[in-house]
Amino acid sequence: MKYALVTGGSRGIGKAICLKIAGAGYHVLINYRSNDQEAEDTLDQIQANGGSGELMKFDVSNSSEIKTELENWKSKNPEKHIEVLINNAGIRKDNLIMWMKEDEWRDVINTNLDSFYFITRQLVTDMLVNKYGRIVNVVSLSGIKGLPGQTNYSAAKGGVIAASKALAQEVAKKNVTVNCVAPGFIKTDMTKELDEKQLKQMIPMNRFGNPEEVANIVAFLASEKASYITGEVISVNGGLYT
Ligand code: NAP
Repeated sequence: MKYALVTGGSRGIGKAICLKIAGAGYHVLINYRSNDQEAEDTLDQIQANGGSGELMKFDVSNSSEIKTELENWKSKNPEKHIEVLINNAGIRKDNLIMWMKEDEWRDVINTNLDSFYFITRQLVTDMLVNKYGRIVNVVSLSGIKGLPGQTNYSAAKGGVIAASKALAQEVAKKNVTVNCVAPGFIKTDMTKELDEKQLKQMIPMNRFGNPEEVANIVAFLASEKASYITGEVISVNGGLYT
């Protein structure tokens, strides 16, 4: 059995990624912060499709919680190692910078950027020792071109992109790849209050994407087939100009 950790696996894009990765034969550690019911639903769906997984509840912005949870898992499973890490959990708290409160800045940076460092540093050693690993970070169009009202979110996602490019070069010799997937507008809870009718006019495909359309490329980058791709950012945005 091979092991994968997906952060933010209870809803939206993360849920679709969990299902795809489980379908590829991985035992999926489904991380989430608070929504027990949706996390259980992800696990139920995996099991109904004949796959396997388990829940792993922790706050990705809390380094000590992460350390404790991952060390506990490792001590219960000393022979096993997590060879696929999908850093997907994220939040947005949009505001124009002149009105942006310090906690809106910090929460978004902590959850979207610091989490990359906290979790990746914990798992990368096993990947290097075993000379195999796949790290895929879910970023955003916002981290490539910047979006008004999202200086915090753009900074965090742009930071993950730069960090991924640096890490890709650190670990490439050990057969560990690090890539990013940058969604545009995807139908999830995160975008449910946006006006799709108006925003879709900017998108050449004239619609928002589905979580599965993001999960497909994440699963490919997380597979053995993507063995010579690293340090890349792949957009999934229906042709939205970046
Ligand atoms: P979503 O529907 O709001 O789901 C967010 C997921 O992240 C949930 O599983 C949530 O867990 C988890 N999460 C949030 N904060 C967490 C924390 N501190 N610790 C652990 N888990 C946490 O979001 P989504 O649209 O699927 O977004 C997934 C990723 O794609 C994010 O990184 C987002 O920035 C990125 N993205 C999304 C879009 C889009 O259009 N939807 C576009 C570009 C990029 P709970 O259920 O427990 O709250």
